[in-house]
Amino acid sequence: MHTVRLPDGETVPALGQGTWMIGEDRSQRSREISALRTGIDLGMTLIDTAEMYGDGQSEELIAEAIAGRRDSVFLVSKVYPHNASRNGVAEACARSLQRLGTDRIDLYLLHWRGGVPLEQTVAGFERLKADGKIRHWGVSNFDTDDMEDLMAAGGTACAVNQILYNIGRRGCEFDLLPWLGDHGIPIMAYSPVEQGRLPQKGAAGAALAGVAARHQATPYQIALAWLLRRPETIVIPKAADPAHVRDNRRAADIALDAADLAAIDAAFPPPRRKTPLAML
Ligand code: NAP
Repeated sequence: MHTVRLPDGETVPALGQGTWMIGEDRSQRSREISALRTGIDLGMTLIDTAEMYGDGQSEELIAEAIAGRRDSVFLVSKVYPHNASRNGVAEACARSLQRLGTDRIDLYLLHWRGGVPLEQTVAGFERLKADGKIRHWGVSNFDTDDMEDLMAAGGTACAVNQILYNIGRRGCEFDLLPWLGDHGIPIMAYSPVEQGRLPQKGAAGAALAGVAARHQATPYQIALAWLLRRPETIVIPKAADPAHVRDNRRAADIALDAADLAAIDAAFPPPRRKTPLAML
């Protein structure tokens, strides 16, 4: 699988695993752990979570899934905006480390922009980095003007912006992706298969099905391959079903050609004007 280079030169797998809604139902626990371990075995070693997910239950389940193999995993977690003051991030990070059963988070993100001045959050992140509690930090759900504000607040060490981006949610292509490209900041595309609700009917459903048939793939795999074609995009589908995890891994080996991309553009048009960044 190809990798994506973070601004400091470290590389991470382009395809990782999301964990929203994982860890909340005890009857699903062993299946969810098995799905995450399957993904790790297949090289999807970047795992995305947040203190918000299941009020910490996602982080606790990940601790179990990665027991004994922490060093082969790249852990991403997120702090709530209301915890993102200079001292608040340190306290939230300590709780996340405890739940994750580890001494460091590889990438720690501000989940979305809230009321705390960005200078404070950046100072908190930088202190955590200096203390070795986190290795990189970044943001999530930041639109172009938020990124400008972040830079002005001293946040030039931002490693990633995690945003809603998929085949049917292309608004960020207008100005945010070019801005991030110019600044060498990769994106992490969340909800890459639209939470399992890709279009099945109409022109969009037919186009996706047509491209999928050409590659003997599923529409989900095509939606992932479409995102993975961009070299600076990390993609984090969530799959509690180990069979879905295996399908998702195979998507990284699908190369879409110009005809595929044209069919996708016709059915899922790129943006012609600025729209505010969507979030879930
Ligand atoms: P998603 O990954 O687009 O979709 C997950 C859904 O798609 C699940 O129902 C899953 O089913 C299904 N699925 C996955 N692979 C499939 C496949 N190959 N074939 C058929 N169905 C498949 O949605 P998401 O969970 O919202 O987004 C992914 C991750 O991004 C999250 O888990 C989270 O880590 C992160 N996220 C971040 C933010 C943010 O604000 N920063 C917001 C949303 C999400 P099964 O579970 O049954 O396998």
